[in-house]
Amino acid sequence: RNSILVSNRHESTATSADTSDPTCEEFEYQAEVSRLMDLIVHSLYSNKEIFLRELISNASDALDKLRYLSVTEPKLLKDAVDLDIRIQTDKDNGIITIMDTGIGMTRQELVDSLGTIAHSGTAKFLKALKESQEAGADSTLIGQFGVGFYSSFLVSDKVVVSTKSPKSDKQYVWEGEAGASSYTIREETDPEKLIPRGTHLTLYLKHDDKGFAHPERIQKLVKNYSQFVSFPIYTWQEKG
Ligand code: ADP
Ligand code: MG
Repeated sequence: RNSILVSNRHESTATSADTSDPTCEEFEYQAEVSRLMDLIVHSLYSNKEIFLRELISNASDALDKLRYLSVTEPKLLKDAVDLDIRIQTDKDNGIITIMDTGIGMTRQELVDSLGTIAHSGTAKFLKALKESQEAGADSTLIGQFGVGFYSSFLVSDKVVVSTKSPKSDKQYVWEGEAGASSYTIREETDPEKLIPRGTHLTLYLKHDDKGFAHPERIQKLVKNYSQFVSFPIYTWQEKG
């Protein structure tokens, strides 16, 4: 068995770990993240489009970090790809891929960032939500605080993050499903999916949210929400 059990509660949960892949390990979300995910999946129905703002802001932060670090460490830029954000839509299959050429994440950084709440905004969100519980789990709160990466589950059944940090010679894939209490991390082995640096985040949209995979919709949201991002954002539609 290749799974890592971070809690024995895990025994009762269905495993999605690919047991045929020796690099695949399964992790359980921190309790607070589980709470947040549950809320996102079951209680938040409006203002869903903020997922794009959150994910673009993460891409932009990752590019900022790379640019900053490269001042003292110019070799970080050796795989001379441009610093930009690309959003690919596949409307036939309801898939959105957000790609950045930023700092990426190591395996440990994936575990630390996408499974625990390090994000102060998210902690504040949970607190504010608790305080206004009667008002309903609500769209204004989510818009106000954002819930960072986890907002991808507002619109997605499944999220796959493939990421390559300059600090690691390997590329790793984080995979999580809406409503699941655990996620998996494995090495990227598909040569066609290897990237020199940065992060490719793929959203497999929920049936009712597949409309977000239309390029015009994405372009409009980018214009509304992310006009002050200091890196170019390109969008294109996958040819069917
Ligand atoms: P915040 O952005 O406020 O830290 P998020 O939930 O949005 O909270 O993201 C959590 C963390 O995951 C980030 O701090 C960052 O370390 C990591 N992360 C998310 N998206 C990316 C990305 N595209 N590239 C690199 N790291 C990322
Ligand atoms: Mg963020």
